[in-house]
Amino acid sequence: MSSPVISVEGVGKRFDSGTVALADASLRVAHGEFVALLGPSGCGKSTLLRIIAGLERPSAGRFEVAARPPHRAVCRRSGFMFQGPTLMPWATVADNVWLPLRLAGQSRARARDAIQAQLRSVGLAGFEGAFPRELSGGMKMRVSIARALVAQPSVLLMDEPFAALDEMTRIRLNEDLLAWAQASHLTILFVTHSVFEAVTLAQRIVVMAANPGRISQTLDNPPRRPARRGLARFGPTSRAAARRGGPLSQALRRTAEALSPARATR
Ligand code: ADP
Repeated sequence: MSSPVISVEGVGKRFDSGTVALADASLRVAHGEFVALLGPSGCGKSTLLRIIAGLERPSAGRFEVAARPPHRAVCRRSGFMFQGPTLMPWATVADNVWLPLRLAGQSRARARDAIQAQLRSVGLAGFEGAFPRELSGGMKMRVSIARALVAQPSVLLMDEPFAALDEMTRIRLNEDLLAWAQASHLTILFVTHSVFEAVTLAQRIVVMAANPGRISQTLDNPPRRPARRGLARFGPTSRAAARRGGPLSQALRRTAEALSPARATR
């Protein structure tokens, strides 16, 4: 892999409580790659993501994002999305999206075009003046995505962003996320505990295990399909494929096997 955008080497995290949330994690993510961190609750997925985001200090190892050391500059290079939309309820949609540009010193007037373009690209043109309470869960998440992307980060770090949404909204957002990632050559690191979500989104699946939190293996997943074609491409294409269950079910089975406790244990 030539000069990765994210590079993690031997990173560990022991909290003051004594919990080893992460042990000796190493990972490289190339420009434009979509990588999922997949594993059960408590295996250190969020801790690893938060370390890469610069929100948590590692107790061992080193890492780089966009070839910068883990200081303030990194935050401007990466957008972070939490488990919920985390919008400011008192601010309009436009002002919520303005936040990262505002923190970077851009006035509302100067940021207006970028905010409108970003809202258009997530399907929310015309909602600039709405307040979060007037939006559905999926729309709030779209505002959150617009906010994460408006400063044009080279890396998007996502911590189970769609976990609280109903399944149809989640599937639609997954499809749109793939389209946005392809259009803007975004590098994405995506935490999930859904095997299905990991297999449908990611080119590479980093499987993690708990006690201590660690990377147990990395699986290659077939290249991303053109967005908006739903899951049709994963359907069986031949009798033999039909017997095996089609590429989607094969990938799901392979990933589920990798997650099984017997394999995850060292
Ligand atoms: P995951 O995202 O895979 O569910 P986390 O990274 O949130 O896992 O947590 C990994 C382990 O570290 C868990 O045992 C969790 O309880 C512990 N942990 C996470 N954050 C803290 C903290 N701030 N202080 C102490 N222990 C923590």
